[in-house]
Amino acid sequence: MPGMRQASALSDESAGIGAGVKAAEALEILGSSVCRACGAPKDARFAFCRECYYALPAELRRNLWKPLWKGFDEAYAEAARFLERKVGAKP
Ligand SMILES: [Zn+2]
Repeated sequence: MPGMRQASALSDESAGIGAGVKAAEALEILGSSVCRACGAPKDARFAFCRECYYALPAELRRNLWKPLWKGFDEAYAEAARFLERKVGAKP
């Protein structure tokens, strides 16, 4: 349909920080010095800041050390969803 716009298919309007993280984005996340979950400064190499990282269950923490192309994106998405619920409860 000529009148249809593709924007909604491509936009991440319904996506939280954890939805659909791709490997390239994961690399960006790891290289960044800002925690996406709470906005606090974080170490590059780490997926989240210390506070968020240690707020995660042990299993999710372990999964964050998977290689980027071998499940890190999924692990990050899961961890981010977990933190989103937590952060969402804050004022
Ligand atoms: Zn954080």
